Amino acid sequence: MPYIPPMTKILHIVGGGMAGSEAAWQGANMGVQVVIHEMRPKVGTFAHQTGLLGEMVCSNSFRSDDSEQNAVGLLHWEMRAANGLIMQTADKHRLPAGGALAVDRDPFAQSVTDALRAHPNISVEYGEITALPDDGHWIIATGPLTSTALGQAISKETGAEALAFFDAIAPIVYFDSIDMDQAWMQSRYDKGETEEERTAYLNCPMTKQQYEDFIDALLAADKTEFHEGETAGYFDGCLPIEVMAERGRETLRHGPMKPVGLTNPHHPDVKAHAVVQLRRDNKLGTLYNIVGFQTKMKYGAQADVFKRIPGLENARFARLGGIHRNTFLNSPTLLTADMRLKSRPNVRFAGQITGVEGYVESAAMGLLAGRAAATEILGGSLDMPPATTAMGALITHITGGAEAKTFQPMNVNFGLFPPVEGLRGGRRGRKDRYKAYTDRAKADWQAWLAPQAAAA
Ligand SMILES: Cc1cc2nc3c(=O)[nH]c(=O)nc-3n(C[C@H](O)[C@H](O)[C@H](O)COP(=O)(O)OP(=O)(O)OC[C@H]3O[C@@H](n4cnc5c(N)ncnc54)[C@H](O)[C@@H]3O)c2cc1C
Repeated sequence: MPYIPPMTKILHIVGGGMAGSEAAWQGANMGVQVVIHEMRPKVGTFAHQTGLLGEMVCSNSFRSDDSEQNAVGLLHWEMRAANGLIMQTADKHRLPAGGALAVDRDPFAQSVTDALRAHPNISVEYGEITALPDDGHWIIATGPLTSTALGQAISKETGAEALAFFDAIAPIVYFDSIDMDQAWMQSRYDKGETEEERTAYLNCPMTKQQYEDFIDALLAADKTEFHEGETAGYFDGCLPIEVMAERGRETLRHGPMKPVGLTNPHHPDVKAHAVVQLRRDNKLGTLYNIVGFQTKMKYGAQADVFKRIPGLENARFARLGGIHRNTFLNSPTLLTADMRLKSRPNVRFAGQITGVEGYVESAAMGLLAGRAAATEILGGSLDMPPATTAMGALITHITGGAEAKTFQPMNVNFGLFPPVEGLRGGRRGRKDRYKAYTDRAKADWQAWLAPQAAAA
């Protein structure tokens, strides 16, 4: 049966963080009445310090502001072009930080709060929402630290396996930066019905000496500690690699790096001492994750250690590994292309809980959800932007482009974009390629915005 939207004209948004604040701003500017439900300061989280909307919980950086060569810089550009509250407030409270956009966090959050509270179409209700609503238009934007009661309600609705409370991220590498003269494609024991399945993994072999050096580097690397209040207990299935190495020098060789069931076509007579496997991370085949390599190593240390893996000497990372408290949905299976919960279509999700990662990405998903929900309340429907834009690349990834089985939160990056044909590959062509991506994205984003501006 086709979905009939609720009759009420009010948009309720749960959570006034990066995503909820942006969603409210977008919806209200389209003429819709918005109620933000924010639990702070009545109920706190271990990371938030204030009762302000749009609070930045940790670093004060929105990362690169380069909209020609960097995907997050492009996302800034797209949000500015869409009159985004988070970006215009960040610009107002910008701190000197070279090519990055750093923000004076307290005045930033105060300005976001003031702008939302002063908006004639927005009201803020302080209190925790503990259940999924049956009726009305709702956006859930409760972030990585969604309250326990609401987390349980979402888990009950979606199935426990579809909602993660912990983020164990293996590093993700751009395929075009892997040296295929050393690596090869093969599934262990050539398992699989099709050629695609039999070559689903990318393998990087190690000699005994390379393995021993790698273990030494892992043990010596700088690690991050858990934040206070975060549980430090790991699930056995997602132990950090350095913890596995601490349990014994051979543990990894009997775990994710076991060298069995594989033949190196570059040297068929040489048996590898250990093998690092990478698995495809998106349908485009532009990104590969290093299987079982979730880690608490600091970012700088990760790049040093992982570049010791033969074939990854020149690897570029779409994202580095990590483990932290994070509530997020298995969006590829649960959400529609326009961010509704398939089982409860009056509820949309936005922000980090949808499986994007970072302040900017979360606000971006708030922007899309706010516009989509408001359009629906006004009697229309909004197609999501094309995957050639930064916004579209992210939403396409989380709602279907990503592999559902291994879905992990994602930063925006050029690996999510459909390739521009006819450009030089490899390291040399990278600058031209990124410029071509960003030129195409800007034109397509403006084309997506234009009819909405005309209708306003
Ligand atoms: C410890 C930690 C450190 C991080 N560091 C960084 C960093 O340095 N850089 C970066 O880019 N990203 C960082 N992140 C990720 C960051 O949280 C997100 O990028 C961003 O804040 C997510 O935006 P959001 O709107 O989805 O969630 P949030 O900004 O967290 O907003 C969610 C809001 O929902 C409220 N809420 C939760 N449950 C309920 C409920 N049941 N009822 C009502 N309100 C509720 C919360 O109080 C909060 O205000 C970090 C996350 C954590 C947990």
